Amino acid sequence: MVIKMDLHLLSDGYFTLDKSFLVYTKYQGQIYEAALKPLLIIDGKEKILVETGIGDLPEAYRKFHTVKRKPDQALRAQLQKHRIKPEEITLVINTHLHFDHCGNNALFSNAKFYVQAEELRYAYAPDRFQKAAYLRKFFDADLDYVTVRGKHQLTDNIILVPTPGHSIGHQSVLIKGERKNFVYCGDAAPLRENLEKRNIPGVLYRADQALKSIDKLRSIKNAAYIYSHDNEQLTLV
Ligand SMILES: [Zn+2]
Repeated sequence: MVIKMDLHLLSDGYFTLDKSFLVYTKYQGQIYEAALKPLLIIDGKEKILVETGIGDLPEAYRKFHTVKRKPDQALRAQLQKHRIKPEEITLVINTHLHFDHCGNNALFSNAKFYVQAEELRYAYAPDRFQKAAYLRKFFDADLDYVTVRGKHQLTDNIILVPTPGHSIGHQSVLIKGERKNFVYCGDAAPLRENLEKRNIPGVLYRADQALKSIDKLRSIKNAAYIYSHDNEQLTLV
């Protein structure tokens, strides 16, 4: 039996950053308006959210990143368009715990949060070079984290695929649709060029792993990729 799945690419607005954060050794000094795009998946009785956006950044972070968001682009309003309240979300997948991917985690009080064990551990004690990327109050809330190690079959149609490199415990999401496989890359490939040109991201835990992860995603057959920050891709094709 094929369970009908619905996928909706949502928004949590945009935030500015130096484009070199997205592509290694390129674009220094260019400011990029990075899209924030959680993915809503209705899979049988599960209401699943991949990523929770950037939420409300503290003052210290707003000095470096400007969040641009129309009222109807806030994640809660985006869910409302689909008549879903945050407390109705049953599962959240955090690709990783950088602040621009888990900013609204606290909204989803009834959800189980799927994250790689290494990522959650590291988020509490990052190395100096990744420290600014983790914002403890965004992930260290009273939430039900389910830690996984490596590949994990979440539902009949959804597989968590480890893609480390950008962060220590990064994971991407493979969603098996009727006609094609949707791949939510996360920051393994924040822009189309990361995947298509095999250009690793600029923010790195380990560069060699980042390239292997891109190649792992490229090897998926019949794939439609979703790039986490690409502001030219705002809908599912
Ligand atoms: Zn990241």
